Amino acid sequence: MRLLIVSVLGMVLVVSSILPAKASECSPSRNHRDASWKPYYDGRLIDSHFHIPSPLDIEPPRPVLGNNVTLADIDCTLKSEGTSNIFAFFPVFTSFSYQNFIDWTHKAEARYPKRFVPFIMPPGKDDVPPTMGATKLKKMLKHNRGLFQGYGEIGLYDLPNRRADDYAPDATIFQKIYPVVRQHKLMVYFHPGDNQVDNFEETLADNPDINFLVHGDQIQNDISNLMDQYSNIYYSVDMLYGDQYLLRADGTKQAFLDGFTDFETIMAIDLATWKPLIEAHPNRFLWSTDRGDAVWTFDRNVGYTLANYGRAFIARLDPAVQEKFAYKNAERLMTVSGL
Ligand SMILES: [Zn+2]
Repeated sequence: MRLLIVSVLGMVLVVSSILPAKASECSPSRNHRDASWKPYYDGRLIDSHFHIPSPLDIEPPRPVLGNNVTLADIDCTLKSEGTSNIFAFFPVFTSFSYQNFIDWTHKAEARYPKRFVPFIMPPGKDDVPPTMGATKLKKMLKHNRGLFQGYGEIGLYDLPNRRADDYAPDATIFQKIYPVVRQHKLMVYFHPGDNQVDNFEETLADNPDINFLVHGDQIQNDISNLMDQYSNIYYSVDMLYGDQYLLRADGTKQAFLDGFTDFETIMAIDLATWKPLIEAHPNRFLWSTDRGDAVWTFDRNVGYTLANYGRAFIARLDPAVQEKFAYKNAERLMTVSGL
């Protein structure tokens, strides 16, 4: 057990710590499941949106892999909450040796086979353009053949230093990336920007053999129409908890946990927002959390709460849809991707 030395009123006390556990210290049980949130889905879960921290401390105060969050911590949290796999976005930052980043993906696969469904996430320098180009991507994938199942998450939205109009899904940079992605049988995960629906339609039509996953406010209102027309678009739902995103980098664990106090109210909002959409497109929506921007988002109690709420939400869907949303749609995407 790790120890934490705390000074109280000049006295030094040694107390057991609540820091993330080492692998050997992870003893998950099913006791954490919250029976008060009935009805309750008790089956398998796949989280289809999970950010792995960078191993380099280059965006403080963001978490650092191998430092304040380890692969063992992540594995333990997932085991504890009962999530079997994650679509794991492994960052590769430009200006550094890419293999140093990608070696962590190899480590994850070696230590926890199949738990991480690896996506390569290579943003451009300072997010302009939003991704590294096709040549670099091709090289990274060639040297790590068969490791990745997806490409993304890539944000296409406005930032202070870039405009969504310049980086729609059919922008030149992506037109060059799609053949690379196709060759390696990768899914593509985009967070679209405003006013990109027409471009998205063209991209979906032009690339029927590539599966696109998306999330975000910018496309939420159009997703039903897109799904009606194209079979290669999927949506991962992480804006639960009263249709709000509680896992922000500038948030806190306590504010997150407090967000669930009024369970009935937030559940009613989420059911009104998502249940009709999910049930109308039972094969296209996936459960997810979008964790990873702050150290506390990897915490085991946060994991329990995310999964518990997800299970309570899933239990309120049409029984024929529950397993599809919880894991089957994600699992199907895993089996059609990869070499
Ligand atoms: Zn994300």
